Parts: sequence; C-alpha cells; structure tokens
Amino acid sequence: MPQCIAVLSGGLDSMLAIRIMQEQGVEVDALNFKTIFECCQDRAGQAARGLGVRLTVVSQEDDYLEIIKNPRFGYGKGANPCTDCRIYMFQRAKRFMEQSGADFIVSGEVAGQRPMSQKRWQLDTISYHSDLEDLLLRPLSAKLLRPTKPEREGWVDREKLHGFSGRSRKGLIQLGKDLGLPYIPDPSTGCALTEIQFGRNVHDLLQLEPEATRWDFEILTIGRHFRFDNETKVIVGRNEAENDQLEYMHKLPDASSSAMLDGHNYIGALALIVGPPSGDVLRFAGGLMHRYGKAKTVEAPQIEVIQRDRTWIMPIEATEEAQRATTLASS
Ligand code: SF4
Repeated sequence: MPQCIAVLSGGLDSMLAIRIMQEQGVEVDALNFKTIFECCQDRAGQAARGLGVRLTVVSQEDDYLEIIKNPRFGYGKGANPCTDCRIYMFQRAKRFMEQSGADFIVSGEVAGQRPMSQKRWQLDTISYHSDLEDLLLRPLSAKLLRPTKPEREGWVDREKLHGFSGRSRKGLIQLGKDLGLPYIPDPSTGCALTEIQFGRNVHDLLQLEPEATRWDFEILTIGRHFRFDNETKVIVGRNEAENDQLEYMHKLPDASSSAMLDGHNYIGALALIVGPPSGDVLRFAGGLMHRYGKAKTVEAPQIEVIQRDRTWIMPIEATEEAQRATTLASS
C-alpha cells in the first residue's frame, strides 16, 4: 500500500486532502507545524483524531526567523513570507517523509486560493525549491497541474482527483459533505503575520533590531508595543493573562527585556522594557502604566522596577507623552 505524509493545518483543505487519499487506499500520516505566529495545533489534533490518522507535530526552528528577516520571495500584505514559509515547511516534510519511508507528500493547497503562495507559478516554485518536485501532490487542484509521480506511477488515480481553483469554499464544503468528513471546520483566524497591524510590529523589529532573537519575535504576540526610541520599546499587558505571560517571558534566560515594571501599591497592567532602562524610559513606561492600569485609582501610585540584579520602588504619574503615545500596531 502506498504511504504519504499529509501536511495538516486542521483546516478544511488539508482535511479533504487526507480524506481523498484515504478514499484511494493510501496510508496517511499527518504532519503539523507548530509556528510562532499561528496556533492550529488544537485544530490539527482534532482533525487527525476525526480522520483517524497519526499526527506528528514539529516546531519551527530558529532558522525560520531568517526567512522572516529576509524572504527570498518577499512579503504579503503583512509580514507574511508565505512562499518561503511553505518551502521551509515542505523541506522539513520531505525530511520526515524520508525518515518514515513514505512515498510522497500531500497538501491541501488550492491553486489561486491565496495570493501569496498558491498562484500556479508559486505552487511550482514551492515544489521546486523544497526539492520535492513531483513528489508533492495537491489532490484538490491536481487536474489543473502537471501529473506528479504518484499519479504517473498509479499510486493514486488522477481521474479521482479534483480541479478546484480560486477562493470560494462552496465546492470544498460540498466535497467535505460528500466524503463524509467528521465535521466542516470554520475558516481559520490564520497566521498573525498576514495581519497588516501585526505586520507593523514585525517590520519595526526587523528594521530597528536586525539581530532580533526568537524571544523578540515571540513577545510580539503579547501586549501593546510602544516604541520609545530606536533602541527601546515598552510592552504593556492588556489583561491578567498577558501580564502573566510578560512576567514569564521576562524570567526566561534569553529574555531581551531589561526591566519588568509592576504595580506596588495597586494592581494593574504590567510592563516590560526592552532596551536600556534610562530615567526617561522609566518615566514614559510609568506614564503608560498610569494610562492603562489602575494606578489612577490610588492617590500616589508606585511601581516596582525589577531588574536582573536589583528591585526598587518608584512613583509614577500621568504624562502627556504616554497619553499621546500610539502602539506600533496602530501607528
Ligand atoms: S500564512 Fe503564515 S504560516 Fe501560512 S504560509 Fe503564510 S507565513 Fe506561513
């Protein structure tokens, strides 16, 4: 029995790709990528369980950050390097295929569905640069594409594959029902890199901190980000969960934050400073904490400034600069 590795996000397209292979008697193992900017592992787990396939989850390594910093095929409307990202994923999928002795790779890509990675030429580019060439089968659009090795060798029947193109989900949903998918998933909220506002945070980091580490990218998903100057940023938690996350991030050994600021005589927003914590920065950050936290509910609000080697207390007050400041995402 032929075996394939299916790249599974947990969305409708990748579920369909798997079910089409199962219908043709191909043994399927699923592979999901745990990304920094997208969270579909739960969706992928649920989908794998529903389809009755084994699921392996792999994390993006630090070399993925190089793709975000310098994508060969450029960005989409946000900071999404989709073509390079797909190539990266399929290169790893190829490695996994070789290790597991599978015969080919299957993906739920649909020609023309996404402007940054699924135009016809981009699908060819992805197949070529991932070194998969004709071992990468897209069952949903296969009839619009050149026959791949699994089709030529008769491992799968090309006649039973499909010729979907474009962005409409209607035909795909109907196919899901026809094939008896366990459920039809809602469209994913997707990858934060595609969002224009989040993309601003990423481009700000790339421009001003070219040596940015994984920590610097991961923290982009937490809190409000305010740039003080080219070297310094202040990040303010928006709720209790984000305050906890900021505290956790600050304690990591590779943290780029130089100070954590927490309410001393009140409970409220927590802030991190990334860059030198000069007096002016502390005043600015204190002003932001006053603006967003419950500091205004006490008469003389104070914060704790927690650095690696010392902790001290300082008063904060509302400042015009902090009042006027806009987040990177909204600037
Ligand atoms: S949307 Fe995000 S995860 Fe998906 S291909 Fe583009 S950059 Fe990669």
